[in-house]
Amino acid sequence: LTPTDCDVAIVGYGPVGATLAGLLGRLGVATQVFESTTSVHHLPRAAHFDGEIMRVFQQLGIAEALEPLVAPVRGMHFVNAAGERLLAFDLPDGVGRHGYPDGFMFYQPELEAELRSAVDQLLSVEAHLGHEVLAVEQCAPGASLSVLDLTTGQARTVTARYVVGADGGRSLVRRSGDFGSDDLGFDQPWLVVDTVLKRPVDLPELVLQICDPARPTTFVPMANGRRRWEFMLLPGEDPIGMQRSASIRGLLQQFCPHDDLEIVRAAVYRFHAVIARRWRDGALLVAGDAAHQMPPFLGQGMCSGIRDAANLAWKLGLVLGGRCGESLLDTYGAEREPHVRAIVELAVALGGILQTLDPDEAAARDRLMLDSPTPPPASPMPPLAPGIFVQPSGGGICPQPALPRPAADAVLLDDLSGDSFSLVLPAGTELGALPPWLDQWWRDFGGRIVELPTGTELGYHEEQPVLVRPDRYIFGAGDPVELVTSLHDALALHPAGAPTPTVGARPTGTPTPTAAPTARPTPTPRHMEKEAVR
Ligand SMILES: Cc1cc2nc3c(=O)[nH]c(=O)nc-3n(C[C@H](O)[C@H](O)[C@H](O)COP(=O)(O)OP(=O)(O)OC[C@H]3O[C@@H](n4cnc5c(N)ncnc54)[C@H](O)[C@@H]3O)c2cc1C
Repeated sequence: LTPTDCDVAIVGYGPVGATLAGLLGRLGVATQVFESTTSVHHLPRAAHFDGEIMRVFQQLGIAEALEPLVAPVRGMHFVNAAGERLLAFDLPDGVGRHGYPDGFMFYQPELEAELRSAVDQLLSVEAHLGHEVLAVEQCAPGASLSVLDLTTGQARTVTARYVVGADGGRSLVRRSGDFGSDDLGFDQPWLVVDTVLKRPVDLPELVLQICDPARPTTFVPMANGRRRWEFMLLPGEDPIGMQRSASIRGLLQQFCPHDDLEIVRAAVYRFHAVIARRWRDGALLVAGDAAHQMPPFLGQGMCSGIRDAANLAWKLGLVLGGRCGESLLDTYGAEREPHVRAIVELAVALGGILQTLDPDEAAARDRLMLDSPTPPPASPMPPLAPGIFVQPSGGGICPQPALPRPAADAVLLDDLSGDSFSLVLPAGTELGALPPWLDQWWRDFGGRIVELPTGTELGYHEEQPVLVRPDRYIFGAGDPVELVTSLHDALALHPAGAPTPTVGARPTGTPTPTAAPTARPTPTPRHMEKEAVR
């Protein structure tokens, strides 16, 4: 087999590429990242991420560093021009089911800097800044990339088993393969204005979607004194003219006196709703904005991309570690596409409420929503379907309790699960017996077992034992031996072929390749061992 320069080449070092690089690096996968710019993009786009995403940052080891940089968010209200509440997404105070507040406001350049410094620690990842990928072509056993070093002007070819396009909305990788795209018919320019408050100002602490037909507007209380307003451009308005200081000041006037804030930037974005039809074409995959774009009314574009990275990383790890065949990678799009689609559709529907310009229609909308209030969906996050989990108990995200310890601070569940699959057991669960070959498989696989301390509840599926995937989604709930058996069988549906060597790979700590057995030897019972919470 022809060796490749690296296992995974990631095109694009935005938040999604950096997250994927970090997660792959933790698995020891030989990864190269190519990014055309030379430093973190200095302007923020995303302003919000949710508690689930903080868990990915926790896995990457940056949750603590982010703490002073983020602020919990209280929720989002849709209000009409008179300030009456049409729809409320309220978030509870304090820690939620993810072990963190349910939502955070943040400043994107600071987050990206933290992500990159986490990646810098990982031996198996090389990030090449100032390197533009000019072309991507599939060639056995993977793909080749033409890379231009923008500093020296030198071009070279890099080969990889897999190429992941985390290269944003105009993705070259997506255009280089057969991915297709589904346009959900949303195309609207908005002016985004970021400001810093010069002194404390009495502004709402919630995200406000102001459904004023005269000018639909979004207000976002970002972290650390930053405030954002987004103004829908009306038909016929000139995007360039609207970015001029006089126009911006005119728009801000009704919300905040000029002297109280400094305008740090203004930019017009066209909000789209597009989803790739396929997420893998042979050795090419897409993630983040390269795979989907949505209007930002739910603050979920980057979050969805980070979920893509979390879903894809462990699957690439299993395939490249020789444990599974590459058909496992088809479960990536199968699981992620319906999840993203549900979020994009909700964002488009909310955009429809917000962007009503006809005053009569807006008045009718207000009457309807005020007279018969619609509760927002309990969770806009659908479970995954279908993929590597057992139904009906699998596919949801595992809650993350803090686990008390006798002589130490509480520890968060994910810190015990690490980057592995883990069985999470209610206190005192009797572990059944695994046949020795399966016991050995689970050990080789790096599976962990965590027993919750007495009195700690997980809050999932009637407190049954659960098997949790490395991306924190639940594989299934029920009898532990049956769960490990089902996991083995689910992965064995993707049998491994021979691994392809990597040229000059750095020491990676990649697990010893072991193909998933397809036939089971005669069972002889043996007990699995639990890891104590200490
Ligand atoms: C106004 C606005 C508000 C938003 N608010 C939110 C929010 O609150 N919450 C949220 O979750 N999301 C939000 N989003 C969406 C979020 O910003 C994006 O989804 C996210 O930044 C996408 O990340 P990415 O890594 O996929 O792509 P990008 O951030 O676009 O990164 C792609 C990278 O690839 C590089 N690249 C591209 N082509 C090449 C090439 N050929 N060679 C080398 N490098 C290349 C680019 O230079 C870039 O650095 C918002 C978006 C907008 C516009």
